[in-house]
Amino acid sequence: MVGQSGLASNWQANRFPFAQLWKAVAAKIVTVHDLNADLHSHSTASDGTLSAAALAARAKANGVQLWALTDHDELSGLPAARAAAQAAELGFVDGIEISVTFAGTTVHIVGLGISPANDELVAGIAGVRAGRELRAKQMGDGLARVGIRGAYEGAIKLAPNPDLVSRTHFGRFLIASGVAPDMHAVFRRYLTEGKPGYVEHRWAKLGEAVRWIRAAGGIAVIAHPGRYKFTPTEEYALFSEFQAHGGEGVEVVTGSHHAGDIAKYTEMALEFGLLASRGSDFHDPGESRLDLGLLPGQLQLSPRLTPVWSRWTAAELRAEPLAS
Ligand code: AMP
Ligand code: MN
Ligand code: MN
Ligand code: MN
Repeated sequence: MVGQSGLASNWQANRFPFAQLWKAVAAKIVTVHDLNADLHSHSTASDGTLSAAALAARAKANGVQLWALTDHDELSGLPAARAAAQAAELGFVDGIEISVTFAGTTVHIVGLGISPANDELVAGIAGVRAGRELRAKQMGDGLARVGIRGAYEGAIKLAPNPDLVSRTHFGRFLIASGVAPDMHAVFRRYLTEGKPGYVEHRWAKLGEAVRWIRAAGGIAVIAHPGRYKFTPTEEYALFSEFQAHGGEGVEVVTGSHHAGDIAKYTEMALEFGLLASRGSDFHDPGESRLDLGLLPGQLQLSPRLTPVWSRWTAAELRAEPLAS
């Protein structure tokens, strides 16, 4: 693993193109941990409301130095995201967020630094996406049973990618219909376990998701662990099995983590020897708790952690070749 000084020398050797950042690092104004990395975000290719190009522009405007697009079970936004990042001289890694069922619960596994052309990954997530349409129809049926008509059609209309209809699109439809005031309320009343629009669904297996990510040369990361309602035993099993399958990272800082979660997953990352990641999980300016790259100061990764980006060389992060 590349340590802090190793990364710095990598950057130097590869002439990291972001001159300002490099000068700041060289002058020890920022450390590797201070990098404004936002490695979790969604575009219109899944359940975000901004295009990949608009996200890149927003990331740049918000001071992001290293960005990853991580659409749910979907890679189609990545070429446009990479091109826009290159144009903006924004560091970029290709990403994905894979839906997994573990111990009867939906768990999300982010893959970072993946190759989007990898056959195993492409085929794997195509299988995961395939169940979404029937699930969406059943969600619509469930909502119709409590008197909410047209939810399936409404959600489809709000989903720019017809292969990727998600609960978020249903949520937006239900809010627009005046059935609930905001996303928090709509999920609580209609879209979570036991509620009329919830449909039990089997996603990928944990080992499959990790295997596809690794096959594509990426780092598998447990997304927002503080959101799962596991018992301590189940959570320990998730971390252990994830690692046994070859999973290497955990999101310590994310939009849904409070200070207590950050402290807890800092310790878990250290206990399991996992790399630490950081990302807003940005979907939409009005809905998301954190804007792209605007993770407050106290949400830096602890210097005790090894950031996931310490794995990549400057050449891998470089947006475009240096002109000179
Ligand atoms: P799906 O993949 O169709 O099950 O949709 C999952 C998506 O719903 C997540 O990625 C979030 O964007 C969104 N989501 C899940 N739970 C909530 C919640 N409690 N409040 C707002 N959005 C949520
Ligand atoms: Mn989402
Ligand atoms: Mn997620
Ligand atoms: Mn996400």
